[in-house]
Amino acid sequence: MKKILLTEDQMPQQWYNVLPDLPTPLAPYLHPETLQPLKPEDLAPMLPQAIIDQEFSSQRWIDIPDPVRDLYRMWRPSPLYRADRLERALDTPARIYFKYEGVSPAGSHKPNTAIPQAFYNAEEGIRRLTTETGAGQWGSALSFAGSLFGLDVVVYMVKTSYEAKPYRRLLMQTWGAEVHPSPTSLTDAGRKILAENPESPGSLGIAISEAIEDALAREDTNFALGSAMNHVVLHQTVIGLEARKQLELVDDYPDVVVGCVGGGSNFAGLTFPFMPDRLSGARPTRFVAAEPAACPTLTRGTYGYDYPDTAKLGPLLPMRTVGHGFVPAPIHAGGLRFHGDAPTLCLLHDQGYVEARAYQQNEVFAEAIRFARSEGFVMAPESSHALRGAVEEALAARESGTPQVILFGLSGHGHFDLAAFDAFLAGELEDFDTNAEEIERALAELPRVPL
Ligand SMILES: *Cc1c(COP(=O)(O)O)cnc(C)c1O
Repeated sequence: MKKILLTEDQMPQQWYNVLPDLPTPLAPYLHPETLQPLKPEDLAPMLPQAIIDQEFSSQRWIDIPDPVRDLYRMWRPSPLYRADRLERALDTPARIYFKYEGVSPAGSHKPNTAIPQAFYNAEEGIRRLTTETGAGQWGSALSFAGSLFGLDVVVYMVKTSYEAKPYRRLLMQTWGAEVHPSPTSLTDAGRKILAENPESPGSLGIAISEAIEDALAREDTNFALGSAMNHVVLHQTVIGLEARKQLELVDDYPDVVVGCVGGGSNFAGLTFPFMPDRLSGARPTRFVAAEPAACPTLTRGTYGYDYPDTAKLGPLLPMRTVGHGFVPAPIHAGGLRFHGDAPTLCLLHDQGYVEARAYQQNEVFAEAIRFARSEGFVMAPESSHALRGAVEEALAARESGTPQVILFGLSGHGHFDLAAFDAFLAGELEDFDTNAEEIERALAELPRVPL
């Protein structure tokens, strides 16, 4: 195993914004009530101005503020590894690299955006942040970032995860956050769901509704989103910018880049810095998005406008979606259960620049175990989807005898997911067939607005 490091000075000074480089302009977001194009000021009740500016920016490079870079230095630049022991285990001529984001205090890539979001909110006088969390990684990242800036953080955590993942909750509470199992009786959105079904397991869409409602109700409170929107994707580009430099150090450039997709932020963060070379025709690099078969957004969803949340409080986003009412099966990769994906990623997928594949949990856990036994790291179930995609590429390279260069994103460690590994090792992990009717039912609820 070879580790490729950058010095702190080599950490990017700017984030890369893909918006001005997209092959066609991104369709506007729409206001959830009027269905008219969203104006930047519509977001002011829930986001700080600096973040709103970034969300709509057409500037290709955006400076990373010094206080944010100082905090990034706690764990950045993150290491890039050559997985030569895995290559040998697979008997492949491919060179496999992975960018490891599990070194952050919260254990995933999410602090890359949690820190700038907390920073800009604190700068603008906000005292309290609300957010949603599924598996708990985003909630922990924001709790960590909030603690650095003295902000109160309130997390609406999907109830099934709250019950299944007590250690994630404890991590958030350790950083000082208030954590509620969602749906709660604290918001109209939550009370409405509970009235229909007191046993509701919750969903990301419901938790987002609760967090937005809470933020809208208070002057001192803003909302922070962990994925999908342009500003989140922007902040995550530190991953790919570093990886590019690290590959340059060993004279390599990827033929294929693979990432897992929940809302698309780590995938976009890793791949977008390579995208201009592909868009200009300078490089034929392929980009492969790996998603769970239980929430098959890119592989089986529809490209159109949809709400980010169940209560329809957030703006309509132009994205590929399985419908805001879709409740995915309870897979262990909780971070991949969002019904839509980042609009920029969906556009690039629609235009043929991004391929997508869906995997079942047993096949991804089998890869995570093989990886742990060859490369040592125990990765998150989410990241294991990217690994599965990378291994498929490496096996194809073996078939064809081509020394492909494969880069994949290892978005987080799996230390809080050992119960899932336990289930896999005991042969008790379920694969889920998502039935077409469920998706169709959820898609029937899409707003009737053409994209
Ligand atoms: C949240 C999370 C994901 C999925 O979110 P994206 O926005 O798609 O990146 C993937 N991996 C890990 C470790 C996560 O915590």
